Amino acid sequence: MKAVLIGVGDEVLYGETVNTNASYLAKELSIIGFEILYHAVVSDDEDMISDAVTNACAKAELVITTGGLGPTKDDKTKQVVAETLGLPMYCDNDVKAKIEQYFKKRERCIVEGVSRQYMMPEGCIVLPNETGTAPGVYIKQENTVVICLPGPPAELNPMFENYVKPLLTKITQKEFVERYYMTCGIGESPLEKKVRAAVSYDPNYSINTYLSRSGVMLKAVAKGHTLSEAENTADKHDKEIKSVIEEYLYSESRKEVWQAVAEKLMEKNITLSCAESCTGGHFTDLLVENAGISAVFPGSVVTYSNETKMKLLGVSEEILDNFGAVSKECAIQMAEGARNLFKTDCAVAITGYAGPEQGENQKNQGLVYICVNFKGKIKVAHYIFPQKRVIMQHKSATHAFKILNELLKSD
Ligand code: ATP
Repeated sequence: MKAVLIGVGDEVLYGETVNTNASYLAKELSIIGFEILYHAVVSDDEDMISDAVTNACAKAELVITTGGLGPTKDDKTKQVVAETLGLPMYCDNDVKAKIEQYFKKRERCIVEGVSRQYMMPEGCIVLPNETGTAPGVYIKQENTVVICLPGPPAELNPMFENYVKPLLTKITQKEFVERYYMTCGIGESPLEKKVRAAVSYDPNYSINTYLSRSGVMLKAVAKGHTLSEAENTADKHDKEIKSVIEEYLYSESRKEVWQAVAEKLMEKNITLSCAESCTGGHFTDLLVENAGISAVFPGSVVTYSNETKMKLLGVSEEILDNFGAVSKECAIQMAEGARNLFKTDCAVAITGYAGPEQGENQKNQGLVYICVNFKGKIKVAHYIFPQKRVIMQHKSATHAFKILNELLKSD
């Protein structure tokens, strides 16, 4: 089955917004068995949108537009698509009530033009928008399906995943099994290379890599005529994948490494504290993204200077003089100090050079020591992340979570 993707909007046409929606949708559609004929991008002009839809419908069984579903005057995609397909619009009271609720909850007045968002083409399936107000539209005509999705990827991606994909897989009449491999500590291209070399060729199996906030997510999709056929295919390749990514794999469900850690801490009722230096609280910031973490997390300290390392954590002057603040020895004392201070089962310490370093010290740029003290059992690792400060800090924090995750797995 053939598909065409149409991006709508001047900001995409003029390059201010990169058309990431097209790359996301093309990847996803090819996995579920669609052949992508072409991508088009058109301005917010009504004639241009209408021509693009008419041309695409003449060539493909599936046409997806992205953008132009919002409340502003230039958002006309849905109306133009309905007119082009000869469908009248009706006021959808369910959508209306949801949108009114959305604004009420935020104590905001309904903005002008919002009424357009609850006018729907007759006979369409309304695709709920879980992260915004503009619902998507699924229109089935005799030979073609036309789908209108919102522009912002944060709205489009869950709408596609949760509502569009299940409808499309019914058309392709194939069963799909998706497996996720969440990794930390390896780049996207080396990961892909390793996996492609390990996985034997199979037309019913595809793998794709995506960047996540913790590292790289590998998504594998197996297809078959039945669910069990697809599952067998997924199982067969699962072993091949794991044989090459075991050391980087922290979870097989779609979660960031700090979510995987928080779940284990809460499940096992293990308390955690933290002493941060170069990350300045970033580890803690990620940790507290997890709802309910207060049950196992009493607090952390940011000890940026040698004085605060000594005063708050009991790091000895001798260690600082002999090994320096960025050292294995200091990291060990910081973790021990945090564990004592907060009386937790477990403590993490992070100390490093976020840079940029000058002169002699340049060779140490990005060096970080991470220590995890888990009920007295100590694990220390060092890494070199000679990148921009924020990247170095983020990588230091995510690697600390990865070490902690491994210790929790073996506990
Ligand atoms: P909104 O309700 O936010 O107006 P919309 O469906 O009307 O949503 P647009 O107004 O066309 O969408 O675009 C809103 C934003 O979505 C853009 O500013 C851009 O950041 C993002 N966006 C739009 N199209 C694309 C695209 N093809 N790829 C990536 N991002 C996009």
